[in-house]
Amino acid sequence: MQTSKNINIVGAGLVDSLLSIYLAKRGHKVKVYERLPDMRKISMAAGKSINLALSDRGWRGLEAVGIADEIKKIAIPMYGRQIHNKDGSQVFQAYGKEDQAIYSVSRGEINMRLMDLAEQQPNVKIHFDERCTSVDRASLTANFENNTTHQHTSSKSDLLFGADGAFAGSRLNLQLSSDRFEYNQHYISAGYKELIIPPGPNGEFLLEKNALHIWPRGSFMMIALPNMDGNFTCTLFLPFEGEKSFANLTTREQVKKFFDEEFSTAVPLMPTLLDDFFANPTSSLVTVKCFPWTFDDKIALIGDAAHAIVPFFGQGMNCGFEDCVVLNGLLDKHGDNWSAIMDEYQTLRKPDGDAIADMAIANFIEMRDKTADKKFLLQKKIEARFAAKYPEKWIPFYTMVTYSPDIRYSTALKEGQRQQAIMDKVMATADIETKWESEEVEKLILKEIQ
Ligand SMILES: Cc1cc2nc3c(=O)[nH]c(=O)nc-3n(C[C@H](O)[C@H](O)[C@H](O)COP(=O)(O)OP(=O)(O)OC[C@H]3O[C@@H](n4cnc5c(N)ncnc54)[C@H](O)[C@@H]3O)c2cc1C
Repeated sequence: MQTSKNINIVGAGLVDSLLSIYLAKRGHKVKVYERLPDMRKISMAAGKSINLALSDRGWRGLEAVGIADEIKKIAIPMYGRQIHNKDGSQVFQAYGKEDQAIYSVSRGEINMRLMDLAEQQPNVKIHFDERCTSVDRASLTANFENNTTHQHTSSKSDLLFGADGAFAGSRLNLQLSSDRFEYNQHYISAGYKELIIPPGPNGEFLLEKNALHIWPRGSFMMIALPNMDGNFTCTLFLPFEGEKSFANLTTREQVKKFFDEEFSTAVPLMPTLLDDFFANPTSSLVTVKCFPWTFDDKIALIGDAAHAIVPFFGQGMNCGFEDCVVLNGLLDKHGDNWSAIMDEYQTLRKPDGDAIADMAIANFIEMRDKTADKKFLLQKKIEARFAAKYPEKWIPFYTMVTYSPDIRYSTALKEGQRQQAIMDKVMATADIETKWESEEVEKLILKEIQ
């Protein structure tokens, strides 16, 4: 049992809202400060309605506070990747075993539900339109400016969580006031733009509903995830500069030609393509690694504020929800000893945050490039065959990251590297295309895996 504390959380995004529920259920008094207006009362800005893939680590975070069933109501299972090749052919690649899925949820919808569920706790209060301008470490005071009145206020607490996302204002302040604060920010060369495939005339889905659609094209790709209302939110990931790039798509003619050449099967399903392309923003993709994540045993960074990652493994939110699960376990373990809680939290989570950041970058290359590559697909078939026969010896890499919340991200990364080294040898076998199901290949894997 813990002694009740006054806790401030900066940000009311996905991880922040969930964290407030965890803390409130332990009897703490939680105040959440969000710089934006209450999104439940305004219409969402176009181009900002991205949907997210929720998988087992995220579900575990929701289940632990009893809200998974509520979120399931707004989630669509996707059982695999539907690959759309340039020649118009399509291939379905299952994500795991038959019943294993990742779930498409609208970012806005899940955020609003989480806020509703947070506010159902009598000891959670969310303050909107309050932008955190600074955090005073010594007095544990967070300072805010109201977006409409521009009035400045301050709030003192016993503990503070900086959960205000990749560009966290709370983190900047801590960074500036901490000696030897490690900070690394990396933008990939590609950006993204949201587009849409609307439902058919009778509200029906125009692509397979229960799949994550990918149009892989080497250095770029488009993906589409289903929404509850029959829409698909498409995201074009494309380099900012170069021959095929956002820089070279500045007129309607250029955009039309590019889409006709690259995504000819999707174009007829995108009646508002050209308008959407120019109306919606082009956004950048950043990885942020930093350390420490905790300060003076009273302040902690969590979610994207601690570890922003690129979206190609669909794990940013899932990782943030897992932060909450780990923290919750430490509250059980250490009770009122916040010094031990904070220390173990960052010791445990930092290697996992770094690991998923690196795996997410690597998965960009896999999604845009390799999902259409014959050799890569053959490797996956060999791995799947071996894993089915020897499940205790081989858990596929994607399964470890996505469906195995008991396996830490850092362990999955190491094991994935070991598997890849084995598969490099297997794929170098002469005539592997014809003998991939042979005893020779199986024996080679068994020998290497020892
Ligand atoms: C294109 C894209 C696709 C993605 N796809 C996936 C996916 O498929 N699966 C997945 O798991 N993750 C995905 N992610 C990552 C996921 O969106 C993030 O990991 C997740 O939103 C992190 O939650 P958070 O609460 O830490 O930060 P956020 O959700 O960013 O919330 C932070 C909140 O803090 C507020 N805030 C910011 N500054 C201040 C301030 N100074 N004062 C007060 N409030 C402030 C913000 O307004 C925001 O509401 C994707 C991300 C992107 C960009």
